[in-house]
Amino acid sequence: MRVLLSGGAGYIGAHTALALIEAGHHVIVVDDLSNSSAEAIVRVQQLSGVAVPLLVADVRDEPALRAFVQAHSPVDAVIHFAGAKAVGESVADPIRYYDVNLGSAIAVLKVMAAERISAIVFSSSATVYGQSESLPLSESSPTGIDLANPYGKTKRIIEAILEDAASADPGLAAIALRYFNPVGAHPSGLIGEDPSGVPNNLMPYVARVAVGALERVGIFGDDYDTPDGTGQRDYIHVLDLAAGHVAALEHARAGYDVFNLGTGVPVSVLELIAAFERAAGRSIPTEVLGRRPGDVAVSYCDPSKAGRVLDWIASRTIDDACRDTWRWQSRNPAGYGSAADRRAAASGSQLGAGAA
Ligand code: NAD
Ligand code: UDP
Repeated sequence: MRVLLSGGAGYIGAHTALALIEAGHHVIVVDDLSNSSAEAIVRVQQLSGVAVPLLVADVRDEPALRAFVQAHSPVDAVIHFAGAKAVGESVADPIRYYDVNLGSAIAVLKVMAAERISAIVFSSSATVYGQSESLPLSESSPTGIDLANPYGKTKRIIEAILEDAASADPGLAAIALRYFNPVGAHPSGLIGEDPSGVPNNLMPYVARVAVGALERVGIFGDDYDTPDGTGQRDYIHVLDLAAGHVAALEHARAGYDVFNLGTGVPVSVLELIAAFERAAGRSIPTEVLGRRPGDVAVSYCDPSKAGRVLDWIASRTIDDACRDTWRWQSRNPAGYGSAADRRAAASGSQLGAGAA
């Protein structure tokens, strides 16, 4: 099938683009590059040997998106990654978050209806579970829009929009994937996570400390009610996550459905740092700080529904993720870097007509 990836130049989108191509699908990408680099698409092309058309545009630009879809018709499905994702930023600037995230989802759904595209997979998040008491989190665990931050609210609202859209249109297949903590990189070391500025998330922060770009990892609390006192999360390798998108698309049926994508294994902050030290063969300086406001002690999922329905299971470990992150970070200490910007500037706004 031919799949439009909105936000496909981003961290998860680029890995999913490659997984889709490897599974025999065709991929086209729309991305405004607000949090990514066209270099990611260049590298997906390099790894796959296949041209990936890229439209550099905001997905809320419906005429541009429609023209792009028409130029690559027929498009069978959309994976909607595009959106803003920094939790703290969403608290400081909620209107922008509602504007970008809700506006993007609605624009994509309108273009899908106009162009008769009948399947969508959406990047939701474990954050929709908020401060849930019972673990592991299953798809039936409580969610709500009384979440701590606007980012999480946009994810929960978009899930509700998809559910309503699917019940109004019996031909529409809409799937929300609730990602737990995506980590890792492609084993080639060519594509990986490239956050701008100082990373908010643990794994990219640890990676930057390991290459010497940051001094030490601040551990946000060692007094939680967990085996070693530090927070536990369900870290899923981005290659497993990418495979989950391929499985979701290939199993898509009319109606709305939701799946957790995680490993089901809780890993603590100290365990992740120790795994990274083993992978990098060097020690990572740390400092215990206070708890980060809004953090839960433990979050991990029951991934069995995705196993049962999508025939998908996460197979990679935290050691695999640290090894691949280290390879990516040590080979690309400045991420996609300034070479990427030069290449993007030289390529203009439509890239991929044979460039590999
Ligand atoms: P990312 O920022 O690397 O990718 C998102 C991409 O969307 C970027 O390339 C960005 O340039 C693009 N984009 C943003 N707004 C756009 C717009 N209006 N029009 C066109 N392009 C736009 O993030 P990611 O980590 O790859 O996350 C992908 C999706 O998964 C996001 O929706 C995110 O909220 C969700 N998610 C991520 C995580 C995580 O920890 N990485 C966890 C749960 C859910
Ligand atoms: N964390 C930390 N130091 C950091 C970043 C994160 O100790 O610099 C901890 C955080 O408190 C949580 C875990 O690492 O227990 C994962 O945090 P991340 O921000 O990566 O994911 P999220 O909190 O969104 O699940």
